[in-house]
Amino acid sequence: MILFKKIADWRIFRQNSIARNQSVGFVPTMGALHAGHISLLQAARSENDWVVCSIFVNPTQFNDPADFAKYPITLDKDIAMLEATGCDVLFLPDVEEMYPKGKTQKHYELGALETIWEGKFRPGHFQGVCQIVDQLLSIVTPHRLYLGQKDYQQCMVLTAMASQYYPDLTINICSTLREADGLAMSSRNLRLDEASRKKAPLIYQTLLFLQKEIKTGNTSDLAARAIEYLKAEGFQPDYVAVADAGNLETVEYWNGQTPLVFLIAAFLNDIRLIDNLILTEA
Ligand code: AMP
Repeated sequence: MILFKKIADWRIFRQNSIARNQSVGFVPTMGALHAGHISLLQAARSENDWVVCSIFVNPTQFNDPADFAKYPITLDKDIAMLEATGCDVLFLPDVEEMYPKGKTQKHYELGALETIWEGKFRPGHFQGVCQIVDQLLSIVTPHRLYLGQKDYQQCMVLTAMASQYYPDLTINICSTLREADGLAMSSRNLRLDEASRKKAPLIYQTLLFLQKEIKTGNTSDLAARAIEYLKAEGFQPDYVAVADAGNLETVEYWNGQTPLVFLIAAFLNDIRLIDNLILTEA
């Protein structure tokens, strides 16, 4: 695997692959890699001549400075995992490289996606996500971008951003990898203490509960029951959503036809966990 820290060095390398008409698959990450990230890299490996992973803990997408300060960093282990997966290139820029002083940032029109669910509880988060992924896409110039369904709303935001600025890009959304007890794999799981780690799978259990209980008709009672359950178990939920899978609007009355996604964000002590389930998932 080749490691690039500087955009200029990568660009020289990239020119060669363009000359040879070779395809590039790209997996942007914030590091502290786990099997969920690796599944994205494996998908990229199976479809592209070159697989590029980036590791960059993006300051502009953290609305909570304490969350940024405590974000886990496991670079040596990450590099070993990337090499074992057959990743070709690791792009590992520093903050100055990605956010040169004096450069003004774009503002992205994200519509309601910016003000509901994650957008509401993490003001500015999706602008930061778009800034960094836009910047990375303009540098890496991939044919295919690999994202995890684990961050469902992020997938929608980035699809909207890419359709405007990168119309030729193919976006592949990969399913969520879970621990044996159902907890969605996440870099933040490393910060859970033993008791919280044991409790955390209840988020997935709650998603399964929603899936089992959903019926045609009024759904608001269901979300309220899920919130009460999580609170009783010691979580501080930001939201439990029964939403239209296409636009994320709350579905208060379900006609039995509209594709649904259940979304949960909840704190366990000071760790914020998110997960989701598309209704058709078994
Ligand atoms: P992150 O490092 O958290 O920014 O995540 C980088 C990419 O990995 C994003 O597209 C995430 O949605 C994806 N990802 C994170 N966790 C998982 C998981 N458990 N399963 C599949 N993809 C994931």
